[in-house]
Amino acid sequence: MKSDIVVIGSNMIDLITYVDRMPVEGETIEAPEFEMGFGGKGANQAVAASRLGSAVSMISMVGQDAFGQQQLANFKENNIDITGVGVGTKNSGAAPIFVDKSSDNRILIIKGANNELTPAVLDQHLDIIKGAKLIVLQQEIPLETNYHAIDLANEFNIPVLLNPAPANDDLDLDHVTKVDFFTPNETELATLTELPTGNLAEIKIAAKKLVAMGVKNVIVTLGSKGVLWVSDKTDQIIDSIKVKAVDTTGAGDSFIGAFAHFYTDDEDIPTALHNANRYAAITVTKRGTQKSYPTLENFKKEIE
Ligand code: ADP
Repeated sequence: MKSDIVVIGSNMIDLITYVDRMPVEGETIEAPEFEMGFGGKGANQAVAASRLGSAVSMISMVGQDAFGQQQLANFKENNIDITGVGVGTKNSGAAPIFVDKSSDNRILIIKGANNELTPAVLDQHLDIIKGAKLIVLQQEIPLETNYHAIDLANEFNIPVLLNPAPANDDLDLDHVTKVDFFTPNETELATLTELPTGNLAEIKIAAKKLVAMGVKNVIVTLGSKGVLWVSDKTDQIIDSIKVKAVDTTGAGDSFIGAFAHFYTDDEDIPTALHNANRYAAITVTKRGTQKSYPTLENFKKEIE
């Protein structure tokens, strides 16, 4: 099985509660609605790329519980190759998510089986990894596994994207400098560079520091403002489109998955960023995570 995009990363079951307001400490309140959904940054990104039409393989670990079986079924339903998805000994990853009326969210993550995605697991799937046009990584699996994936990508001469989400203070800058695409939001950029990122001028300085250290492309996601793209040849804002935001959960992941699709489709970075912004903007107009990710056909209809 040869896939253009290989996502090495997490899968979680999202347990989404919609609240009128967040409870304060010690308080119990009634929430109007609850939903379960498929999530995990790796799985979300894989699903977005696959719905857009890319051939996608996932290297991931699910638990032995019912959630694990549901995840496998969901990957299959989304046309994602699961040769590289193993069953671990822990429970499946789960993420209780709270979304309030102003569509702000608060999220807890229990990684479970995702922590069993070790560097040794990658070595069992070198055939899948070698066939990729782009390797996509996030930070819900052990950091050593990401470091090993970056080393393998460099060895096989395959472009590698690291989405440093959620932020992790232990991320080693030496490995970051070996990636082709580094895609933090403002907070994640501040965590890694230890520089302020409160305004665009500061964000540019922090992103340029990473480029000077060897990262080929730093792509800072700026919510409704789109992205800042910095390389040794350019620094430019690529705007998103104006939409009415309903639920921003998973917007960052849809952006990464869409970028992976459009980049591996024709390898033009600014066009891929432009399209990924538009794809992510459409997902924030709908509730849910993967549920809000359109197919290529529906995406085209929505932006007409
Ligand atoms: P994260 O959730 O990881 O912090 P962002 O909030 O920066 O990510 O969003 C990721 C991308 O999603 C943005 O770069 C943009 O393309 C798109 N996006 C997010 N929120 C909006 C919005 N309100 N309007 C339009 N596009 C948005």
